[in-house]
Amino acid sequence: DNEIYINQNIVLKNKDKTLIEKFLKQKEEGIPLDYILNSSKFYEYEFFVDSRVLIPRPETEIIVDYVNNHFSSPINVLDAGTGSGCIGISIALQNPSYKVYGSDCSEDAVDVAFTNKINLDVKNFSPILANWLSCFNTKCFDLIVSNPPYIAKGDSHLEKLVHEPNIALVSKEDGLFCIKKIVEQSTKALKSGGTLIIEHGYQQQDDVEEIFKKNKFSRVINLKDLQLLPRITIGTLEK
Ligand code: GLN
Repeated sequence: DNEIYINQNIVLKNKDKTLIEKFLKQKEEGIPLDYILNSSKFYEYEFFVDSRVLIPRPETEIIVDYVNNHFSSPINVLDAGTGSGCIGISIALQNPSYKVYGSDCSEDAVDVAFTNKINLDVKNFSPILANWLSCFNTKCFDLIVSNPPYIAKGDSHLEKLVHEPNIALVSKEDGLFCIKKIVEQSTKALKSGGTLIIEHGYQQQDDVEEIFKKNKFSRVINLKDLQLLPRITIGTLEK
């Protein structure tokens, strides 16, 4: 609070002093503000976050915008690798007639997603512990969205991301392993004519497009992020 700086006469209670000291220490260690405050803003909502999940990124909101503008009738949606639940929960809150599921292979992440489901009172969102799409029936989703780990091992971007879980960031095969898994498994879990939306690295557009096409996705398009870098690939499963 600014008062503390302006009013030199304020005597801090011990409890507040401890809190401020703890905050400053965490800042000094480089811990991201969202983790310190256990709160992250995504779309119009406030999500609980801690170091067990990735901090939601503004570019990921583009996925939610796209879904809001391109679908209407009640549909079944999967957010694969849901983490905090930010994508799936935002889609669910924006579209109460949709049934949305959020899968994650990390028990910790499912726990956080569940906390957010409760905090934001999201009736039509269910977090599920699962390795990508392995546990779902064939042809059960109209739409699958994902912001998977896509950074290659040893990539220099990781130097700035030391406080976030590695499992949410890094993927084998130059960052493409998880994307391949999701695209391959989506050919079974999606209804024919269903849509797949995946976020990826700005240098992965061509590789991801190729993976989509190899797996019988057509009408493949790419959306740019806020810095106008290619960031999201969308395709339709051929009938
Ligand atoms: N879906 C979550 C997000 O977009 C988590 C993504 C992840 O852990 N890779 O923030």
